Amino acid sequence: MLNDSYGRNIEYLRLSITDRCDFRCFYCLPRSHRDFETPADWMTPDEIVRLISQFATLGVKHVRLTGGEPLVRKEVGEIAQGISAIPGIEELSLSTNASRLAQFASPLRKAGVERLNISLDTLNEKKFQEITGHRLKPVLEGIEHAKQCGYSPIKINMVIMRGINDEDVAEMIEYCIEHGLTLRFIETMPVGEGGRSASEHYLPLAEIESRLRTRYSLQPATLRGSGPARYFRIDDSPLVVGFITPKSQHFCDTCNRVRVSVSGDLHLCLGQEDKLSLGKMMRSGCSDQELREAIHAAIARKPFRHQFNEVPTAIIRPMSALGG
Ligand code: SF4
Repeated sequence: MLNDSYGRNIEYLRLSITDRCDFRCFYCLPRSHRDFETPADWMTPDEIVRLISQFATLGVKHVRLTGGEPLVRKEVGEIAQGISAIPGIEELSLSTNASRLAQFASPLRKAGVERLNISLDTLNEKKFQEITGHRLKPVLEGIEHAKQCGYSPIKINMVIMRGINDEDVAEMIEYCIEHGLTLRFIETMPVGEGGRSASEHYLPLAEIESRLRTRYSLQPATLRGSGPARYFRIDDSPLVVGFITPKSQHFCDTCNRVRVSVSGDLHLCLGQEDKLSLGKMMRSGCSDQELREAIHAAIARKPFRHQFNEVPTAIIRPMSALGG
């Protein structure tokens, strides 16, 4: 069991396999951003499998592949195959912007990826391009492919921004009901320059919840997964919606995760800068035992929570460096 000093069991690891992305969502990866990791520093698929095997030995059960956009890394299939074969890893999932899912949905399903989280902030083509710098059509086609490949559940992540897409919630609900998807609303977070620029559009999700309650009955619901969302069933429809509220109602007291960057940096908290370079340790010839001891020591100093409200300028790195 990998427990931190607050008794929280860390069994979920979010692994960023690239900090690059084919989108430029302004609240995550501003168009001006150039400070990417050098490919020579990226962990190789073998290094990734070696590292995740140590975490599995220590009790990590669920790995989520993130980016940037994980589907821009050509070895994504090989990495997924390697991780899903590690004893102790019970679940492998992926977060994506879906623009390349038409190509990757089937091979990743065969490689052991079970569940997908898909970023989709609006169904309005013009707004979509303003937010992401990309077209909407390939994303909707990607979602269709994923459905045909039997991924379940497929969760849609909608970052709610006042004055940008908060009026699009009803249309997104209808879309998710029609396509049998789960819908989660996420608050903006002051992570990196992009996150801070989005702060002027911050909207506490309690407001969205009360808007929905004027139109729908919301019954508490539960859903499989390691994430912090609070779920509700909409009327007696099959649709379940989730609220992820890091700023207005944090969930740090039940935190169960850590993150690893593409170069092997272990980040103890999304909202703190504490990290340990396991990638450099591996490349300097450490043993697996030394890796496990270093992971244990790091988890013991995992911070209790973020400081998003208290110190909104604290986190310099863009959200894309760790995939949220
Ligand atoms: S902000 Fe940090 S402590 Fe809070 S839930 Fe996220 S990773 Fe865990």
